[in-house]
Amino acid sequence: MIRENLIAVRKTVPSQVRIIAVSKTKPVSDLQEAYDAGQRVFGENKAQEMRDKHAVLPQDIEWHFIGHLQTNKIKYIAGYVSLIHSIDSLPLLVEVDKEAAKHDRVLDCLLQFHIATEETKFGLDMQEAEALLQSPEYKALQHVRLVGVMGMATNTDDQDMIRQEFRTLREIKERLALSYFKGHPEFKEISMGMSGDYPIAIEEGATLVRIGSAIFGARNYAV
Ligand SMILES: *Cc1c(COP(=O)(O)O)cnc(C)c1O
Repeated sequence: MIRENLIAVRKTVPSQVRIIAVSKTKPVSDLQEAYDAGQRVFGENKAQEMRDKHAVLPQDIEWHFIGHLQTNKIKYIAGYVSLIHSIDSLPLLVEVDKEAAKHDRVLDCLLQFHIATEETKFGLDMQEAEALLQSPEYKALQHVRLVGVMGMATNTDDQDMIRQEFRTLREIKERLALSYFKGHPEFKEISMGMSGDYPIAIEEGATLVRIGSAIFGARNYAV
């Protein structure tokens, strides 16, 4: 079903929006099936799981890290990851920079914002993000590049609430772009939208959508 699911999802996503196939918890055979159907961008939320899958799957896959990242696990992904969506503190960004330097890479990252009304999700608020961006420690980093923002909406049926949260993320990105990224057109990505809410996210300006269950089917255990 994965090929059929992918074809159906692609029909609903405009060509300028990139689909991250969120393959967390799924076996390598499922990722290979998506790969064979043309998918090249995969998202994982556990560093060791990403490492193990990266080791056995085709080398032209783009790996995106979308989960909460512990500093002692960056080493499992720094050599090959294409984009880290989940930077939620300066210390984490500093550690990513250190690990990227070991591989002589400049790693693209997104700032994760807390946009949901729910308490449980990770992420920065505007004040924390500005403190990060103004800090000398951030300005000294040579091996990371911020290319946009990421957020997760509240898990709710209230479409208006979801839309408002996505709109907030877009406004955050636009404010930061104007204040801190003049002359840096690469700061343009908005990673928002999952299987249940990605059509709203696209209407509100998403450039990256992170779609798991609509492609791979329901996951067996909660993560
Ligand atoms: C699991 C996950 C997704 C995908 O969720 P689905 O509802 O299965 O599409 C997207 N983003 C993050 C951060 C996730 O952890």
